[in-house]
Amino acid sequence: MMRFEALLESHDRPAMEITETEKRSKLFAKNVFNNEKMLQFLTAEAYEKVQSAIFSGKKIDRKVADQVAEGMKAWALSMGATHYTHWFQPLTGSTAEKHDAFFDLMHDGKGLEKFGGSQLVQQEPDASSFPSGGIRNTFEARGYTAWDPTSPAFIYKTTLCIPTIFVSYTGEALDNKAPLLRALNAVDEAATSVAQYFDKNVRKVHATLGWEQEYFLIDKALAQSRPDILMTGRTLVGNSAAKGQQLDDHYFGVIPSRVLSFMSALEKQCMVLGIPVKTRHNEVAPNQFELAPVFEEANLSVDHNLLLMDVMEEVANQHGFKVLFHEKPFAGINGSGKHNNWSLATDTGVNLLSPGSTPMKNLQFLTFFINTIKAVDTYEELLRSSIASASNDHRLGANEAPPAIISIFIGEQLGNVLDELEGVSKGKLSPQEKTELKLNVVGKIPEILLDNTDRNRTSPFAFTGNKFEMRGVGAKMNCAKPMTILNTIVAKQLTDFKKEVDVLIDKKNLKKDEAVFNVLREYIKTSKRIRFDGDGYSIKWEDEAKKRKLSHNKNTPQAIQVLTSKESIALFDAMNVMSEKELAAHQEVELDNYVFHIQIEGRILNELVYNHVLPAAINYQNVLLENIAGLKDVYGAAHTKVTGPQLNILEQMAEHLVEAKKLADLMMGANEKADNMATIPKKAKAYCDNVKPYFDKIRVHVDALETMIADELWPLTKYRELLFVK
Ligand code: ADP
Ligand code: MG
Repeated sequence: MMRFEALLESHDRPAMEITETEKRSKLFAKNVFNNEKMLQFLTAEAYEKVQSAIFSGKKIDRKVADQVAEGMKAWALSMGATHYTHWFQPLTGSTAEKHDAFFDLMHDGKGLEKFGGSQLVQQEPDASSFPSGGIRNTFEARGYTAWDPTSPAFIYKTTLCIPTIFVSYTGEALDNKAPLLRALNAVDEAATSVAQYFDKNVRKVHATLGWEQEYFLIDKALAQSRPDILMTGRTLVGNSAAKGQQLDDHYFGVIPSRVLSFMSALEKQCMVLGIPVKTRHNEVAPNQFELAPVFEEANLSVDHNLLLMDVMEEVANQHGFKVLFHEKPFAGINGSGKHNNWSLATDTGVNLLSPGSTPMKNLQFLTFFINTIKAVDTYEELLRSSIASASNDHRLGANEAPPAIISIFIGEQLGNVLDELEGVSKGKLSPQEKTELKLNVVGKIPEILLDNTDRNRTSPFAFTGNKFEMRGVGAKMNCAKPMTILNTIVAKQLTDFKKEVDVLIDKKNLKKDEAVFNVLREYIKTSKRIRFDGDGYSIKWEDEAKKRKLSHNKNTPQAIQVLTSKESIALFDAMNVMSEKELAAHQEVELDNYVFHIQIEGRILNELVYNHVLPAAINYQNVLLENIAGLKDVYGAAHTKVTGPQLNILEQMAEHLVEAKKLADLMMGANEKADNMATIPKKAKAYCDNVKPYFDKIRVHVDALETMIADELWPLTKYRELLFVK
């Protein structure tokens, strides 16, 4: 479609009406098989068994599963659902499903009921098309999805969706959810036993996650006119609009009405699906927005984010928009991230990263606070690996959003508290020292946090009063990956901490709080290098970080090497989160995804050059040549006076044309060479080092041509049209 037709089409559509009559609270979780519905549709026995499966991971036997399936089905049918599906998270990053009807007709025309306990608990999707990193080849060809009772089933459109894990026949994770559940289990065990130092009643700790989803909205018809957006989710070429990001705020302070009506419809859908969204506002960049929910238990929150992204695409489509989750859809304009706010909460209702009103509660806070810092310090490179992807490479380390170097911001006041704690003497504490600590250091924390407003926006991992905020996560990503790694490293750290404290109590006869202080003091000393409050974007920090021996992996192939290091393998094994085989397989899939991503971008860019840019340039050359010939006819020998500008443009165009074509050919050569590499790591490295660098070089010439060629002859929708549609 020509871009002007696209423009017209999009403007002809009437704006959607905003209909918001139903009360939010009445809608909330209407389509979710939550506690309330379980009580209504399950037998008492089944209800209890599901609850204990959720709380302690107890297995549900087949008989009970049949009862649960029966209840779930009755509810789903009463809601008008016709199909069910196991909803899972293959390693491609999004979600997958295979729909089956609740009922089938047999040959004799009789109805056959298909949804029982066995269909609820386990399914065997045709898994051959999902990546497995070789796991399925080595072990067994089959993959299974298995019910995750900790995330409630829900109805989307007319399908009952059952959240599941996806594993191989021999139990290896083929997805992102299985490792996450194991990591959450590990952090539960480790954190519960540490929390019991402070409160014997704690029986469970769960990780909490509140993500903040950023995204761009562009007009659907215009998006369809750009092969790069359609195929890669971002613009590979395009001259930055004159009115870039330095727009006056009145321009973007108000959300355009078409966007508002989209948001309104989206929020209603979210409510019905039990996704507790609450905020919406414009981001810095034009057409960029953010959506954040109330935080939830991490596994549920991850599921909700994945579901949200699906729902958003659908609702956007209905409103004539395309939603872009890509981390850097437009050059020269802020990209999109997904901050992951994270904390730990007990079943007694305490946020372990929130200071309390008593010294004991604050010692508990400090324990979890300092252990998290220590964990991130020890495993900073691993944490960095969890947010690596081809599209996120455009942000991390590319002078935007957080840098690729992991560091922690805690603010000056908490820094001072840690400094004071560091000065505490070794071994037993004198009564004076104890009083001083309790009153003047630990006791003062809540007041300190109240005015802890000096937030550092350049830090990739910041403490924000009662939670840590991981800022490097990409907008497109499945949060399961960073959440798996963060919770695993914290679990390991807390396990080590518990051991060390117990030794001091048992062998050195220290009181519990003395032992805790002693271990924390050492952690403060040994984890100092990870704390950094300065400007994370500066070159100075890069140098300083190098001195501190912090990793600085600028691209994905480099960043994910650490997944299979000896230390990582030992860590994941000790915490029962992933086996060596799983780590290797997941790493391989990620490298594969990377290769695929760059390969597609290269091909599309080449297509743009050959099929769009070169023909447009040639067309314009012809216009100019015809014009020059005509002027020559009229002016004769004196023509140079009037044909000068045209000749000049022709020359400049020719330069860029020649260069763009030459570079595109070189890139395709490099593409082919990379594709022929023998191993996947080599392939990924070749795509990263030898293919990707051409993208920006080619773009320079294409963007220059865009500025020279007549607007009506330029075939690609321009930035200003993409970004300023209302
Ligand atoms: P910001 O300034 O980054 O927008 P907010 O204070 O608005 O920060 O909170 C951002 C997110 O933090 C929200 O989505 C919220 O759900 C989440 N959040 C708040 N408390 C917690 C917690 N204890 N655990 C996890 N996430 C939390
Ligand atoms: Mg934030």
